[in-house]
Amino acid sequence: MPLLSCTARSCLYNKGELCTKGDIQIDGNTAKVADETCCKSFVERKDSATNSADTRNVCPTSKVDCKAHSCIYNREEQCDAAKITVTGAQACRCEETCCGSFCCR
Ligand code: SF4
Repeated sequence: MPLLSCTARSCLYNKGELCTKGDIQIDGNTAKVADETCCKSFVERKDSATNSADTRNVCPTSKVDCKAHSCIYNREEQCDAAKITVTGAQACRCEETCCGSFCCR
């Protein structure tokens, strides 16, 4: 499982740029560049609670199911990279996120 960092701080699962969900889904069936991928697991944080920077109990690795078959790290729809970064600093929707570690074959 890759180490997962994520800049989508507006996501419900984001805590100090780590992901608390445990497993995520990356979309990008026809992706040739990173911008054509997205994190389908993004959920916009609706409450007024601020994103805590306390990451003490957050597991830094995550299971990553990934549809971006053209990525060199994709092994039978699982991400095989050691570390990935999901980006989406201004994201309000999953389409505004992407896997910044996508690397086309
Ligand atoms: S690095 Fe590649 S295989 Fe891993 S989640 Fe990103 S796009 Fe998918």
